[in-house]
Amino acid sequence: MIFTCRNCGGNVVFSPEKQKMYCPYCEGEDCEESTVKPTTVTQCSNCGGEIQINEYTSSSKCSYCGQHIVFDERVTGAYEPQLILPFKIGKEDAKKLMRDTFSKKIFAPDSFLSEVKLNSMEGMYVPFWLYDYDTNYDYEGKGTKVRVWRSGNTEYTETSYYTIQRNMDVAFDKVPVDASFALNDEIMDLMEPYKYGELIDFSPKYMSGFFGEIYNDTADNLESRAKQKAENDAEGLLKSSISGYTTVTPIRKNLRMQKKGTHYTLFPVWLYMYTYRGKTYRYHVNGQTGKVIGTVPVSVAKVCAYGATLAASFATIGLLVRTILEIL
Ligand SMILES: [Zn+2]
Ligand SMILES: [Zn+2]
Repeated sequence: MIFTCRNCGGNVVFSPEKQKMYCPYCEGEDCEESTVKPTTVTQCSNCGGEIQINEYTSSSKCSYCGQHIVFDERVTGAYEPQLILPFKIGKEDAKKLMRDTFSKKIFAPDSFLSEVKLNSMEGMYVPFWLYDYDTNYDYEGKGTKVRVWRSGNTEYTETSYYTIQRNMDVAFDKVPVDASFALNDEIMDLMEPYKYGELIDFSPKYMSGFFGEIYNDTADNLESRAKQKAENDAEGLLKSSISGYTTVTPIRKNLRMQKKGTHYTLFPVWLYMYTYRGKTYRYHVNGQTGKVIGTVPVSVAKVCAYGATLAASFATIGLLVRTILEIL
C-alpha cells in the first residue's frame, strides 16, 4: 500500500508536526489516496527497485526512489494492530533532542551530532503487546513494633506483635512488552512511560513515512515479562501499604492473576545508529514523549585533544612569567 497525493501524485506521509497526512511535494494536507498495487513484498511498486526487508518488516522506504510503502499483508488479518500511538515528535525535533541531550558531553566524537549523521535517524513503529490483568493479592504477615525507654538505671524494651492482613484487588491496564527481537528489552522498558490517552485505532496511513515491524513473537510466548512486571508492581503496592513496623515477616502470599485481554499495538521510536571504532551505538528517542535513551561514545581523539589544550595553556603561562622576569 502506498499513499499518493490526489493533487500531484507525490508520496503522502504522516506528519508528526501537523498530526495530519501531508504531501511534501505540493504541501497538500489530508490529500492521500491509498493505492494497492499488486506487488511482491520485496519490490517497490513505484520504481520496481528491490527493497531490503526482513521477515518482520511491515513498512519501509525504497532506497532508490524514496517511496514509502506499507505492506498490506503485514498490517491486515492476524497482523493488523488494534491500536497505534502516532508519532508526535518529528525528525527535526528528534535531532534537536539528541543535540540537547548530548552536546555537553565534550568527549563525544565530532561527527556524533553532525547534521549528516543525525539525518540518518529513522522513525520506526515498534510492535508491542499490551496485557490487561485482574489481580488479587491476599497477604498475611507478622509485624513487630519495638519501643525502648529508660527509667532510672533500667532500660525497658517492649515488643508488640501485629497480624498484618491485606487483600488487594488490582486491575492492570495495558502492561507493555515489546515484541521486537532486534530491540533490547531493557532499552524498550526505559522508553516508558508512553501516554496511553493518545492511543487510537490502528490505520495503516500513520505508518507512511516510517519503518514498521510486525510482532516477532506471539502474545502467549512473550507474556512472562508482562506477568513479571505486574507482579513487581503488585508487590510495590503491597509494600507501600505496610509501614510503621520495626520488622515484617510474611506468613502467606497469594497473588492470583487473571488475564483479561491483549492488545497488539505499535509505539513510535526514533532510532539513531552511530558507529565509532568498530562499535555501533544505538540511540532511541521516544516518538511520543521525546525521552532519549543511550550513552555517548567516548572519542579517544577528543580526550587527547583536551589534554593537549591544557598542556598548551600551561606552557603559555610559563612563557609569560619568564618574559616579565626578563623585563624586571
Ligand atoms: Zn501533492
Ligand atoms: Zn522505488
